[in-house]
Amino acid sequence: MKTSTVALPFFALALASSPAFGYVLVGTSDGAMVHWDTSALSVGLDPTMPSASVSSADAAQALDAALATWTDAAGGKLTLSPAEADARPDTIVLVRFHQDDWPYQANLLAYTQLYAHQVSGQITSAVIEVNERDHHFSVDGDRGRYDLQAVLTHELGHLIGLGHSLDPQASMHSGTAPGDAHQCNLDDDDRAGLTAIEAMQSMGAAGGCSFSPASSGSSGALVMMILFGLLGLAARRRRPSGC
Ligand SMILES: [Zn+2]
Repeated sequence: MKTSTVALPFFALALASSPAFGYVLVGTSDGAMVHWDTSALSVGLDPTMPSASVSSADAAQALDAALATWTDAAGGKLTLSPAEADARPDTIVLVRFHQDDWPYQANLLAYTQLYAHQVSGQITSAVIEVNERDHHFSVDGDRGRYDLQAVLTHELGHLIGLGHSLDPQASMHSGTAPGDAHQCNLDDDDRAGLTAIEAMQSMGAAGGCSFSPASSGSSGALVMMILFGLLGLAARRRRPSGC
C-alpha cells in the first residue's frame, strides 16, 4: 500500500559533485539512495496500453534493446530482462503508452515513477509511462519523431535509480530532439553512474543498508518517488540515428 505521497521528492545525492562525471543518484527526503533489493528486474509492455506510434512488435524490440544496453554495461551485476508472459504481475515493471490522458507536463516524453521506502530507499514498484498524447515516436530513425529506444534507455536509467546527468552526451541527460537517437547508447558518464548503483546494491545485499526492518511495517513510510521524465524541448545538436 502506498498511502503517503510526497510531491517531487527528487534529491540528487552523493557523487553528483564529482569533477569527472555529471551523473546523479536519486534519494528520498530522508537521505536514503533509492535502490532495488534485487539484481534482476523484468520489464514488459502493458498489453492494455500499447503504443499508437509503432507496432507492438517494434515497441517490444526497442524495449528489449534498451534493456540489453544496461544489462551489457552492468557486466552481470545487474540484469534487466524482458518480462515473461507468465511472470507474476508484481514482479514486473510495466511500460505504458498514453494517447488520451497524460497527467504530467506536455513537454515530457516519458515519465518513470518509483515507489520507494522513504527510510531505506528500497524501491518497491515502478512504472514507465510514455507520452503519446503530445509526441510521436519511431524506431526507424524518422527525423521528425522521437526515437523510442533512446527514450526507453533513458527511462530505464531512472528505473535503476539514476537521475539526470549534467553531461549532455549521457543517455541520462534530460533533453533530446526528434531524430536524435544517441541516447540509445551509454557513455562513460552513464557507466560510472551504473557502477555507483551496483556498488550501492552490493552494500545493501551485504547488510550495509541502513534500512531497519522494525520500522518497515508502516505503510505510511512509503512515499511516491516522482522522477522527471525526458524533457522534450531541450536544444541539442541532432545526430544520425544510432540505434
Ligand atoms: Zn529523465
